[in-house]
Amino acid sequence: MEEIPVKVAVRIRPLLCKEVLHNHQVCVRVIPNTQQIIIGRDRIFTFDYVFGKSSTQDEVYNTCIKPLVLSLVEGYNATVFAYGQTGSGKTYTIGGGHIASVVEGQKGIIPRAIQEIFQNISENPNIDFNIKVSYIEVYKEELRDLLELEPSSKDLHIREDEKGNTVIAGAKECPVESADEVMSLLEMGNAARHTGSTQMNEHSSRSHAIFTISICQVEKNMEVAEDRLWQSPRHIVSKFHFVDLAGSERVTKTGNTGERFKESIQINSGLLALGNVISALGDPRRKSSHIPYRDAKITRLLKDSLGGSAKTVMITCVSPSSSDFDESLNSLKYANRAR
Ligand code: ADP
Ligand code: MG
Repeated sequence: MEEIPVKVAVRIRPLLCKEVLHNHQVCVRVIPNTQQIIIGRDRIFTFDYVFGKSSTQDEVYNTCIKPLVLSLVEGYNATVFAYGQTGSGKTYTIGGGHIASVVEGQKGIIPRAIQEIFQNISENPNIDFNIKVSYIEVYKEELRDLLELEPSSKDLHIREDEKGNTVIAGAKECPVESADEVMSLLEMGNAARHTGSTQMNEHSSRSHAIFTISICQVEKNMEVAEDRLWQSPRHIVSKFHFVDLAGSERVTKTGNTGERFKESIQINSGLLALGNVISALGDPRRKSSHIPYRDAKITRLLKDSLGGSAKTVMITCVSPSSSDFDESLNSLKYANRAR
């Protein structure tokens, strides 16, 4: 089977009201009818997918994510990352924010994917589906279970089972039977993400959040879809990770001293390790050789869903404001390196 490297998308959000009020100028644009982005006067980058300021949630989902959901159901692992500086639109795009208050058209990737998965289940009465959800946060290279009510009651460890699947020993995996159930677990985890620290925004912008839906399919009789990756006895296990990465802003910004500085270094080392893994996967000369998964928790955790037969999309979110020029340029460079 052909190895499909990581697909890279860039999404430019619109200027926010307060940015318009403060007369911010736009410095990043999609070049119409191309897959190119121009930043500043003349820096041009090409990506697999580009989404401009008027792109809709529906468009992003249908173009980048729907194919991954379909291959998830066929038995492949999938991962979507949202990368970018704090305030660039990662949570909006991934759809991990306050779900209850979001109107239908504004819903992000997670709720749409969940809906599609359950739709698929209802269309396949010949298959028994077991669906489980977990929600983990990586903060300062430590794992935290966002679905565990008693915080830090258990230690989580990343392991590899005999089949090469990555498992997080000690992580709560909640069985679910409906899209609504999944959504309430997502809400619950989001709440835990915030109460974990006093400075909520600070904390959530410095941690990676990994929401995972795992599906196990067992055939009920022999007349099931033959296009799937059935194992023997006839069952399929696959998972989809939705990853809201820590803010990519640079360490050198003022105020990063002491503990805070150490924190940014650790976070950036995760993003750096991820960039190195993605770049190694996409490099034809390095395919057979070493992929540096072990360098960070985030890459160890996603090892079986990043590379190999897994499908991955990285969505790099950028602010259009010229006051964010440096960060946006850095994000585009990071995304470009991943191609
Ligand atoms: P991040 O998670 O990267 O810190 P957010 O997703 O919280 O950023 O987005 C920052 C702000 O921008 C939020 O108010 C969000 O609603 C708004 N926003 C982000 N992307 C878009 C978009 N594509 N269209 C409209 N508003 C957006
Ligand atoms: Mg966010």
